[in-house]
Amino acid sequence: MAVNGRGNRDSGYRADLPSLRVIIVGAGLSGLGAGIQSALSGHSVLILESAKELGEVGAGLQITPNSSRLLARWGLSENLWKSIAKPDALNIRRYSDGKILFREHDYGQYIEKKYGSAFVNIHRVDLQNALLNRAKDLGVKFKFGCKIVDVAMDDARVISSSGDVFEGDLIIGADGLWSRCREVLLGYQDKPSPTGDIAYRITLKATDIPAGELRDRVTKPALNIWFGPDSHVVSYSVRNGTMINIVLMVPDDLPPDVSKQPGSVEEMRQLFSTWDPILSQYLDLVTHVDKWRLMYRPEMETWINEKGNFALMGDACHSMIPYLAQGANSSIEDGTVIGLLLGKVTCMSQLPQALRLYQSIRKPRGEEIARESLKIRSLYQMRDGPDQIQRDELLERYSDHRLEVKEKFALCWVCPVVQSWLFGYDAHEEVDIALKSKPFI
Ligand SMILES: Cc1cc2nc3c(=O)[nH]c(=O)nc-3n(C[C@H](O)[C@H](O)[C@H](O)COP(=O)(O)OP(=O)(O)OC[C@H]3O[C@@H](n4cnc5c(N)ncnc54)[C@H](O)[C@@H]3O)c2cc1C
Repeated sequence: MAVNGRGNRDSGYRADLPSLRVIIVGAGLSGLGAGIQSALSGHSVLILESAKELGEVGAGLQITPNSSRLLARWGLSENLWKSIAKPDALNIRRYSDGKILFREHDYGQYIEKKYGSAFVNIHRVDLQNALLNRAKDLGVKFKFGCKIVDVAMDDARVISSSGDVFEGDLIIGADGLWSRCREVLLGYQDKPSPTGDIAYRITLKATDIPAGELRDRVTKPALNIWFGPDSHVVSYSVRNGTMINIVLMVPDDLPPDVSKQPGSVEEMRQLFSTWDPILSQYLDLVTHVDKWRLMYRPEMETWINEKGNFALMGDACHSMIPYLAQGANSSIEDGTVIGLLLGKVTCMSQLPQALRLYQSIRKPRGEEIARESLKIRSLYQMRDGPDQIQRDELLERYSDHRLEVKEKFALCWVCPVVQSWLFGYDAHEEVDIALKSKPFI
């Protein structure tokens, strides 16, 4: 099957520009984002997804200004924006008693003002559905239940497990952590590596939580992070303050070769029995929990093929431990950058140039974010002792704006250097700058 027909070129539509046939493998956040931006650039997009439908997979996502500013430009449904929760305060807490080690009361408002776009918390399913609907509105075609097993890079064809062949001008591998497209580009079998941590992911509806402080913490959204020995916990509200998302990160005890399995609620409660009593009260309400192994991938030499008709994006090429909450955010950046560059392609011979520019814009940043994400673990999960006392004293000195953080600071979320590098990034500007210095020939 070949994909033909012209997409809906955005405001800058020019009938003389070629409409590329873009095939995207995977309808996750990176694939959907790339699909939307490529369709807005006037190309025909077909997304092939192995799942029969986009299910209720995942829980909350922290969407930071670097990607919320991109989502805002895509014209996603009003329902999505009604379903977000904006965290007000940022609270870093001690694990044993919940004592606040560091706080910024007005964190959400401050970030939105500083970066011109909001820090929002979203349920992954809501975001995925909004992206899917927008992509369909733009004429993106989908084929679900279509597992890609091979890619013929020479002539931009992909082959499904049932033997269907799809031909395009460009193949984008957005097939996530367990990417088959990555293996094809590498030329050998390649599995993700464990990071040594697993996550228990929990969501609780406010209506299932007894009224009082416990429920108030859901309806008045804040971002809470408990720092503990070898473990940490993150909680924030989603769905307009009607649901709380809690993620508990602990040392990995899953059997080898298992990436996700149902967890024991009792075992989880036991692990956190000496933690902040308020956390235990939430855990007492949990009836079911899944354990996810947190995995990563080593950096690759290249994300694109030599011919310039195949590219990887998202977790397929820069999966990361989620401690900076940037996997989805940077996948959305990837999709925007590739789609915008495709919008500047005026003849087929420019496609390889577009992919090279995509790689030069995205690869250093994606890999650096993955490295920073892993580094931050040692700060979050310090064992009690002199280093932890020093860390807590440092945080306390700056808490509630007692001292202004002016230089590089251990806590990335408030560090002026790392924060502005992460949140201040504008994929549209990056593309404009790159094209100015390296225009397509
Ligand atoms: C506990 C946890 C918390 C997280 N929190 C955050 C957060 O707060 N903020 C944030 O930015 N990120 C967060 N992340 C990371 C984020 O979820 C991922 O980085 C992001 O979803 C990656 O998107 P993707 O599109 O690359 O991959 P995926 O979302 O995994 O999508 C890949 C898609 O490809 C499909 N597929 C796979 N193989 C094939 C095939 N062979 N053929 C066809 N289709 C295929 C899959 O079915 C899937 O739909 C978190 C991750 C975890 C585990």
